Amino acid sequence: MKILVLNSGSSSIKYQLLDMNNEKLIAKGVVDKIGFKDSTVGYENYKGIKFKLNKVITNHQDGIQVILDYITDTENGVIENIDEIVGVGHRVAQGAKYFTDSVLIDDDVKEKIKKTCEIAPLHNPPQYKGILAIEDVLPGVPNVASFDTVFHKDIPEHISTYGLPYEWLEKYNIRKYGFHGLSYSYVSRRVGEIFNTDWKQLKLITCHLGNGASVAAVKNGETIDTTMGFTPLQGLIMGTRCGDIDPAIIPYIMKRENYNVDEMTDILNKKSGILGVTGISSDFRDIEKAADAGNERCQMALKMFIYKVKFYIGAYNAVLNGIDALVFTGGIGENSSRLRHAICKDLEDLGIIIDLEKNDFKGEERIISPLNNKVKVLVIPTNEELVIAREVKRIIS
Ligand code: AMP
Repeated sequence: MKILVLNSGSSSIKYQLLDMNNEKLIAKGVVDKIGFKDSTVGYENYKGIKFKLNKVITNHQDGIQVILDYITDTENGVIENIDEIVGVGHRVAQGAKYFTDSVLIDDDVKEKIKKTCEIAPLHNPPQYKGILAIEDVLPGVPNVASFDTVFHKDIPEHISTYGLPYEWLEKYNIRKYGFHGLSYSYVSRRVGEIFNTDWKQLKLITCHLGNGASVAAVKNGETIDTTMGFTPLQGLIMGTRCGDIDPAIIPYIMKRENYNVDEMTDILNKKSGILGVTGISSDFRDIEKAADAGNERCQMALKMFIYKVKFYIGAYNAVLNGIDALVFTGGIGENSSRLRHAICKDLEDLGIIIDLEKNDFKGEERIISPLNNKVKVLVIPTNEELVIAREVKRIIS
């Protein structure tokens, strides 16, 4: 049972082909810089073939066609015929009020996803484009949308409600939706598997720290709170997103710098956060290197990030009245032993301790707390694609 999973960005498509009879990944890659002169297509299969080629990819349709060509290629492909793909899963960040579960995509679903684009301007428009593109290239194959917001659908009302005029909340469906739900779904279930226990009995704090970053408090299989909100702009300071700020700063700057709404939205999403503060990069590898070389703004940016993660770990510990496990995932959470160490430092009164030797690695699944420590600290590489493929299998079956 071959299922293709697509995560479409504005100029990229990440893809994975999985055999859902045994949940094995059989091919994956990224089509990057779509619409630019230097676009590339990466491909890797389970036989160990791996390459990245420069290829002119003008739009998402082209990108998907190339993916299909590669996976059916007689020499390096993994399936003989495109008909072997029984379903396609799409990651969609914002499901808003419309979706509380993954769905089979039809015209009504597409219309609703289109409506959500305004409140997830970075994520939903390209994901919507990816859906239209595959319908063109692979007609007749069922498409399923899986939403990052679904995992957070049960956040209690007093936590998901913003202190704004009630008529706005109702008229515009303004509430905390939360994001990274596919990742949280994977890592939370995985904690249960690792400890051979029902994950729904556990109290967890999960930290998805990547270019976009958030923390979630999970209890009885439901999110109690998470740092992202109505959009993925709230919460932690991120690579290019501002995270929590005093909302009064926005009109203050707009007036003085003469920015319109679109310009201001763009700056808050793409030119703020770690990039904004350091003026150097949004990539934590660059920031760590520059901080070590003495760059004071980079040193401060790292401290800002660490402080905010710690802050929410503390807050969610209070909200959950203690935890069973703390999980790190995402590019930073999986790979930066230094940031994991800094975040967990001086949290022993909360029962959070890590073993520095166990923590000294990157990119694997590991328990990094001392053997008998009550609160387990884990690094779990996320697998959002597998969660989506499971959803496709469930829905088309
Ligand atoms: P993601 O959005 O989950 O793919 O994470 C991407 C981010 O992970 C990059 O922007 C980097 O900042 C960060 N990252 C990846 N590898 C490392 C590493 N070895 N050390 C620190 N940060 C890393």
